[in-house]
Amino acid sequence: MQSITCENLTKSFKGDGVETFALQNIHVTFQQSDFTAMIGPSGSGKSTLLSIIGTLDEPSNGKVLYGGEHSPRKSNAVANFRFEHIGFIFQQYHLLPTLTALENVLSPVMTRKVDYDKTARAKELLDRVGLAEKAGSLPSQLSGGQQQRVAIARALIQEPDWLLADEPTGNLDSETGEMVFQLLQEIHREKGCGVLFVTHDETLAERADQVVRMVDGKIVSE
Ligand code: ADP
Ligand code: MG
Repeated sequence: MQSITCENLTKSFKGDGVETFALQNIHVTFQQSDFTAMIGPSGSGKSTLLSIIGTLDEPSNGKVLYGGEHSPRKSNAVANFRFEHIGFIFQQYHLLPTLTALENVLSPVMTRKVDYDKTARAKELLDRVGLAEKAGSLPSQLSGGQQQRVAIARALIQEPDWLLADEPTGNLDSETGEMVFQLLQEIHREKGCGVLFVTHDETLAERADQVVRMVDGKIVSE
């Protein structure tokens, strides 16, 4: 999965007889070797595009190719594909509130048979994001920046080819946002995973290898 290509992607939502086009004829290729920023006003389709690329949603038309291939079609195969290849990070962290930091990092692999020592890897990842001593803390005992670092460690548990980050710094003050941004850039370099980083922050976007700008469901520049 060295590349992800969107070919003529369109997504519309129908409600009350009105059809809203969230994405219109999107053509774009992302390289795993790039840290790509995606920027655009609220409602321009960034989250919709990320969801479709991440196989959480399906396009109305067009296709996404991963290293030139289609994703599987059957839903359990899609779930496995996502599990193996894609890590997600969200603005609201989406940690499970009753689980500790370590258990949150482990949560994607808890119920799966995997051929590695899950706990050792989860601890290494918590250490990598600077939270080794918070392994036993609940999300409510962590700051926003710390919660987002736990979410980053969780996204890495399966060593994904791609990290899809939907405004991961959107809830953080600029200093903490900077730290999370730098962490994601380091992880991109260390682990070689492609990063799609959605942001509102022009100064962060300018530091990416590639910047994709969206307006009204269309890519206006790359
Ligand atoms: P962004 O992430 O850039 O703010 P979104 O991808 O969330 O934009 O939304 C793009 C457009 O699609 C918006 O007009 C939004 O209202 C619409 N939209 C997104 N998700 C849904 C949905 N599940 N049902 C109906 N409309 C949606
Ligand atoms: Mg969004």
